[in-house]
Amino acid sequence: MVGPDVSASPLAGRTVFFPPMNEAGVQAISAAFRSVGIDARPMPPSDEETLLLGGRFSSGEECLPQKVTLGDTLKLLVHGEIAPEKMALFMPSSNGPCRFGQYGPYMKMVLEEIGYGDVMLVSPTCADGYSGVGEHADELVRTAWRAMVAGDLLQKLLLRVRPYETEKGAADRAFQEALGMLCRAVEVQGEKKGEKLARIVASLRKGRELLLGVPSDFSSRRPLIGVVGEIFCRLNAFSNDDVVRNVEEAGGECWISDVTEWVWYTNADHHRELRRHGKTLSLEMLGATLKWHFQRKDEHALLEVFGADFRGYEEPHDIREVMELARPYLAPEGTLGEMLLSVGKSVYLYRKGADGILDINPFSCMNGIVSEAVYPRLSRDCDGLPIRVLYFDGTRVDRRYELEIFMELVREYSSRKRMRRITPGGGGAAAEAGA
Ligand code: SF4
Repeated sequence: MVGPDVSASPLAGRTVFFPPMNEAGVQAISAAFRSVGIDARPMPPSDEETLLLGGRFSSGEECLPQKVTLGDTLKLLVHGEIAPEKMALFMPSSNGPCRFGQYGPYMKMVLEEIGYGDVMLVSPTCADGYSGVGEHADELVRTAWRAMVAGDLLQKLLLRVRPYETEKGAADRAFQEALGMLCRAVEVQGEKKGEKLARIVASLRKGRELLLGVPSDFSSRRPLIGVVGEIFCRLNAFSNDDVVRNVEEAGGECWISDVTEWVWYTNADHHRELRRHGKTLSLEMLGATLKWHFQRKDEHALLEVFGADFRGYEEPHDIREVMELARPYLAPEGTLGEMLLSVGKSVYLYRKGADGILDINPFSCMNGIVSEAVYPRLSRDCDGLPIRVLYFDGTRVDRRYELEIFMELVREYSSRKRMRRITPGGGGAAAEAGA
C-alpha cells in the first residue's frame, strides 16, 4: 500500500512529539499522525531529570504542566536524541482565561535562548483549518478523534477492571496489549474513513476481550471515587504522583474525567461563542454542528463495542448537561475551563452514586482554587459527599496518610448515601464475559 505523500507538509522530515498527558491518548494520537505519513511519537516518560531541566529554565511562576513539558522537551534535546531541526512539538494553544495560552510562546522563547530555536511548535487549531499539519488535515482530524475516543474507552475499562484483579499486574498487561493493537489499527495508511473505523472497532473488540479476560473478583464493590480537575495534571500519572493507583491501593475504584470530555466542552464553547457573536445562522455554525454530529456518530460506533460494560458508568449524553449542573455554583456563561467541568461533573458523579471526589490540580492553578471555594456548598447540597482538592508542584510527598483519611470519610458517606450506584450486570464485566 502506498503511503500518503507528505513532502509538501510543514512537518515533512520532522518527528512530532506529544507531551505525555495520558498514555492511551498520546499513543493513539501519535498513531493517527503516522496514518497520514507524519512521523510522530509520545515523549519518553517523565522523571526527576524532567523536573530538574524544566525547573532550570522556569522562574517558578509557571504551572506544573508547563514545567513538565519543557523538561521533557529539553531532555530529548540535551541527550542528543533528536536534532532541533528534526523535531516538532505538539503544543495546543488557547485564548482561555489562564496561563495555558502562554505555554507555547514561552516554550519558544526558552528554546531560542538556549540554542534550540529550530524546534517547530505545532499548535493546530480549527481557526486556521489545521494548516500546520498539511493537506491531509481533514483525514487526520477524523482519525485522531476516533483514536482519542478509543483510547479513552480502553482506559475506562482498565479502571473498571484493575481494582478487582486477582492476579497483580494482569489488567495493566492486558491494557498495554490492547493499546498496542489499537495503535497498530490506527496507524495503517491509505484507508478510506469507513475502513479505518471498521479496523479500529475490530481492534477494540479484541482489546475488550483481553481486559474482560483478566482474572477478577467483583463480589465486593469498592467505593467509587470521581477524579476531576485540571486536565494535564489529573491525567498525567507522573505529575499527580499516580493518584489513581494510590486510590486503588487504598481500597477505592476511580472514574476519571477523560480527554474526550474536554473536546466536547470546546465544541460547546465554540457554539456558545458563535451565538454570542450573532452567528447562529452562519456557515461557521453549520460546520461546527456537522463536526459535532460526525464526532457523536463515531463515538457511538466505538462505544457500541463495549455493550453493557459501562452500565452505571455512562458519561453524560451531552456536555451541556454537566455545564448546567454547575450552574448553582458557577454560571456557565461567565466561567470557563476545567473549574466548570469539575464542579458540574462532581454533581453528575454524585447522582451516579459516587462515594467521593478528588479534584487534582497543579499548585496555584486557578481552576482548583475556584472549585475549592464552592465545594463546601456543593458537598452540603450532595448529602455531605466527601470532596478533596489536591495540589501538585512536582515535589514528591507521601500522601498515603492524607488518602487514608479521605477514604475513611468516603466509607462513612458510602454507608449512609441516598444515591444508589448501578454496577454492570451485578457481577461486573468479568462475570458478564464468563471470566
Ligand atoms: S489550567 Fe491551571 S495549570 Fe493549566 S495553565 Fe491554567 S492555571 Fe495553569
